[in-house]
Amino acid sequence: MNDFLVSLVVPCYNEAENIAPLLSRVAQALKLFSYEVILVNDGSDDGTQLAIETVLLSNHPVRYISFSKNFGHQAALKAGIDHAVGDCIITIDADLQKPPEAIPEMITLWQRGNDIVTAVCKNEGQASAFKRLSSTAYYTLLSWLADHTVVPNGADFRLIDRKVADIIRSIQSQNLYLRGMFSWIGYQQGVIYYREENRRFGKTKYSIWKMLNLASNGITSFSIKPLRFALAGGLFFACLAFAYGIYAIAMVFLGMTVPGWASLIASIVFLSGIQLIVLGVIGEYIGKMYMELKQRPVYLIAKTNIVRSEVNPITE
Ligand code: UDP
Ligand code: MG
Repeated sequence: MNDFLVSLVVPCYNEAENIAPLLSRVAQALKLFSYEVILVNDGSDDGTQLAIETVLLSNHPVRYISFSKNFGHQAALKAGIDHAVGDCIITIDADLQKPPEAIPEMITLWQRGNDIVTAVCKNEGQASAFKRLSSTAYYTLLSWLADHTVVPNGADFRLIDRKVADIIRSIQSQNLYLRGMFSWIGYQQGVIYYREENRRFGKTKYSIWKMLNLASNGITSFSIKPLRFALAGGLFFACLAFAYGIYAIAMVFLGMTVPGWASLIASIVFLSGIQLIVLGVIGEYIGKMYMELKQRPVYLIAKTNIVRSEVNPITE
């Protein structure tokens, strides 16, 4: 048995059937390590709480946190990281799509000095062509906007060292985008590859809206370049309008009627559209600032078996 503790953080939103099989596979995969599992019940409305309380009766080393409502995957990850006491912390989904058997390899890379080890899915073939294409385009765009590379397909199956976990604990942001945060943070980073399995029970909790919201959070939390593009676009169209104004006035002086009611209407509609888009981009940032200003907690805990003294104070 090793002399370090591994914490596993598992966000669970309506994952009742997956919890017991997950814990058995984890027990098998980590039998050579001392570990704890933190199950974070993100406001599930199926039997997840009951499934958690049932596994507490077994001899699995489980602690749990239950939220007062659904706060989302990123908040659940943060809660687990905030309460984990391990020397390294691994985040993994509850649905067994990410194999616990890959964890020992992540631990080996951590022991070789990597502070963050991201597991990258190598068989994206299972996802639909649309999902693959949009995901590649999104990560390329995000990496360019944010000026640092966000590992594509590194979807929150990751090992972090204690010191990185302490940094995450000290961040109180409503618009969490942990994948981006881990790339931004620096430190020594390693990558392993795994084959994603099919979800065994239940269905995906990421609706298209949740996905778009996460994608927008990713961009707005790491870049203000969209605001600069809005400014550049505004300047470009203002110059265009100025030039066209001069042309129109010249036509009047030359005694020619300015042709084109249609072109006038088309340009008004086009420019109004551009203005609304720009306003929307600005609004998105102001909205995010408003949410941050309120300083509401990222999550609220309704029930837990973790006592406060079990959690380390943040080490500066
Ligand atoms: N999840 C969560 N809260 C949410 C949505 C998802 O805790 O609001 C958890 C979910 O239970 C799972 C993980 O996040 O353990 C990944 O979600 P899912 O498997 O639905 O995403 P997908 O694999 O389809 O991208
Ligand atoms: Mg999944």
